[in-house]
Amino acid sequence: MKAISLLGSTGSIGTQTLDIVAQYPDQFQVVGLTAGSNVEMLAQQIREFRPAIAAIGDAQKLPELQAAIRDLDPQPILLAGEAGVIEVARYGDAEVVVTGIVGCAGLLPTIAAIEAGKDIALANKETLIAGGPVVLPLVQKHGIKLLPADSEHSAIFQCLQGVPNGGLRRILLTASGGAFRDWPVEKLSQVTVADALKHPNWSMGRKITVDSATLMNKGLEVIEAHWLFGLNYDQIEIVIHQESIIHSLIELQDTSVLAQLGWPDMRLPLLYALSWPERIYTDWQQLDLVKVGQMTFRVPDHQKYPCMQLAYAAGRAGGCMPAVLNAANEQAVALFLEEKIQFLDIPRLIEGACDRYLVHNHSTPTLDEIIAADQWARQEVVTASQILERSMIAV
Ligand code: NAD
Ligand code: MG
Repeated sequence: MKAISLLGSTGSIGTQTLDIVAQYPDQFQVVGLTAGSNVEMLAQQIREFRPAIAAIGDAQKLPELQAAIRDLDPQPILLAGEAGVIEVARYGDAEVVVTGIVGCAGLLPTIAAIEAGKDIALANKETLIAGGPVVLPLVQKHGIKLLPADSEHSAIFQCLQGVPNGGLRRILLTASGGAFRDWPVEKLSQVTVADALKHPNWSMGRKITVDSATLMNKGLEVIEAHWLFGLNYDQIEIVIHQESIIHSLIELQDTSVLAQLGWPDMRLPLLYALSWPERIYTDWQQLDLVKVGQMTFRVPDHQKYPCMQLAYAAGRAGGCMPAVLNAANEQAVALFLEEKIQFLDIPRLIEGACDRYLVHNHSTPTLDEIIAADQWARQEVVTASQILERSMIAV
């Protein structure tokens, strides 16, 4: 029996993780749950999974949560706000913490879990992208395992089992191509929020679905792969594979290439992050290559999707630049979802923030510097978007 805590339990990653726990009650037990603001779903999850502790990020909703589970006996410890989420992350005897929070809001809770000696099943890529320079040394110091739950990184991790140190030569990250892969570039200026939220292969939260449409998700995954697998950026490549059957590939020193395949189903990488190094039998749909029929591969189009190269540049610049890129992207995506900016403004605003940050950057930032860079980038994007808005009104 493995004890786990789950941050972001009401989201796409969170609910799929709980599906796994419900399916394997003899293997996994929930110690702690956290959610941002969805009291109703969190209360229902507390009833079903009976954690010892739970937290709601939106502190104003704590009374509502308390009322919703008043009749439960025994009562879990209930906390609120960022401090509450952090407390759940480090609480008790959970062996693994699944990070299903979206965005850099996951950074401090993830650090707290690492400092408490817990292994991390990492879905929340933004934490590693922004915090890599401080997270990696903490992983070493506390001797914990960073188990990738992102499907591409899980594929690479699975392929790497049994590969000796120094055996890895190159990573090939596959990308579905997102919602607009078949749209001509001229049409991208007319994209609506509803269009961007239609992912062809995966059902995910809103932010990552927009990231998939801009292909920033793949750019972020390049930086994530750099931190997880220690390769430099010239050794990490992107290939468009619209069927999403090959979840990524590795090339070894002798040019042999290994891949991991499966239907697009996030439960598989989540289960492996929880069960590693064991393999658990499932009754999930088995891969049928004849049904797949064909698999296609294309080079990514950097004209149409500038976000990938922005991410490579930020990764190569290092220091706080990935934190700036990530925060600028989070802010720009939030503004797009609020219909305050256009789809094509997303890369423009990110590029502007990265260009303006360049002068401040240095290679070994502290946690405080990373957090300051994140805050700075969000403000930069808001200010730049207001200038954009005014110029549009003027036109
Ligand atoms: P989601 O929006 O569906 O869920 C996010 C969860 O985080 C929710 O439970 C929400 O309540 C919580 N949350 C949001 N802001 C918070 C805050 N400030 N404080 C505390 N909790 C907060 O997102 P998702 O699609 O599940 O993605 C979660 C993470 O996993 C992201 O980093 C994403 O990139 C990564 N990821 C997701 C998928 C997927 O299939 N959904 C695949 C790969 C990686
Ligand atoms: Mg992914």
